[in-house]
Amino acid sequence: MKKKVCKQCKIVVSGDKCPICSGTDFSTNFQGRIYIIDSAKSEVAKKLNLGAKGEYAIKVK
Ligand SMILES: [Zn+2]
Repeated sequence: MKKKVCKQCKIVVSGDKCPICSGTDFSTNFQGRIYIIDSAKSEVAKKLNLGAKGEYAIKVK
């Protein structure tokens, strides 16, 4: 199954809807991936404004 990401949150979604915003607007066209384990302690998460843990795409087209 091809990975998809939520266009709004940039989180990688494996189910039918986004776990953060419950949205269903996905893109399979994305570049790069980062995994946030603890968003409160992650500099990257702060920089990219990622509030929840999970796997994120860097760039979503
Ligand atoms: Zn979302």
